[in-house]
Amino acid sequence: MRAPSAAELVRVWELGQGRKLWYRALLLLAPLFPDSAFRVLGEMTLGARNAHLLALREQMFGTKLDATVRCPQCAERIQFTVSTDAFLPEPPTARPSAYEGTYTAHAAGAEVTYRLLCSYDLAAVSRLDDASYAQDALTARAIVGPQGLQLNAQVLDVVADAIVTTDPLADIRLGFACAACAHEWASSFDAASFLWSEIDSEVRRLFDEIHRLGTAYGWSEASILTMSAQRRREYLTRAS
Ligand SMILES: [Zn+2]
Repeated sequence: MRAPSAAELVRVWELGQGRKLWYRALLLLAPLFPDSAFRVLGEMTLGARNAHLLALREQMFGTKLDATVRCPQCAERIQFTVSTDAFLPEPPTARPSAYEGTYTAHAAGAEVTYRLLCSYDLAAVSRLDDASYAQDALTARAIVGPQGLQLNAQVLDVVADAIVTTDPLADIRLGFACAACAHEWASSFDAASFLWSEIDSEVRRLFDEIHRLGTAYGWSEASILTMSAQRRREYLTRAS
């Protein structure tokens, strides 16, 4: 997988303005797979999507990831560092392909048939405001049988766990312990959200460089974006 060029990054960022996160994630992946239809990218399992997003993140920013999380009990801000190697021991090599097949799990005395979730499932629940309800709605979408099955909390929990067992990167869980109040909990790490915010910062930095180089030398946005980061940096030190 190659890292996107500066021009591609600005274009993807522009196309993503005002769009939902699930769509932004596909915009990030689309230039990497020019031979794959956008629909196929959307029908990749969430685990496959996240694997490609993590690989892209490694290409662009490396494996070390610094982030913060708030303790849900006392609101203490906790800084943490993880390496994406921990989730992604090997880079995903497969071409994107749509999810297929069904699986079974046993819940509430029934054999529940489920499929894996994809970006279009995220799209379907993205209008729901309540995050916990959205998670249940997402799991419910994966359940394909038996007909008339009562979708209670037990069934939804079993299927949610079964999905992650089958497609481990679909929900990347991180464990935390708060030094202030000793509370321990697990949170989902949203690779798409994290990478988009990093790219947002990167593109805004690029706009600063374009502004400064354009003002100093009269170069166009397009010509500045075709330069390597090293060349831009050299000219920036001379322009200031
Ligand atoms: Zn705490």
